[in-house]
Amino acid sequence: MSANKTFYCLRCQHRFPVAHDPKQVAERSCPKCGSNSVRLETPAAVAAKQEGD
Ligand SMILES: [Zn+2]
Repeated sequence: MSANKTFYCLRCQHRFPVAHDPKQVAERSCPKCGSNSVRLETPAAVAAKQEGD
């Protein structure tokens, strides 16, 4: 079973849900700009983004 996680793109800041399966390591890319610089959005990441805005 997989859970939906929110990832965000470091390049365009687009946020998107990903069906995250721990057993499957897949390279993820931004559906908007195609960048593979995407990170799992964590509370710390959200706070850091807001602080830097
Ligand atoms: Zn992007």
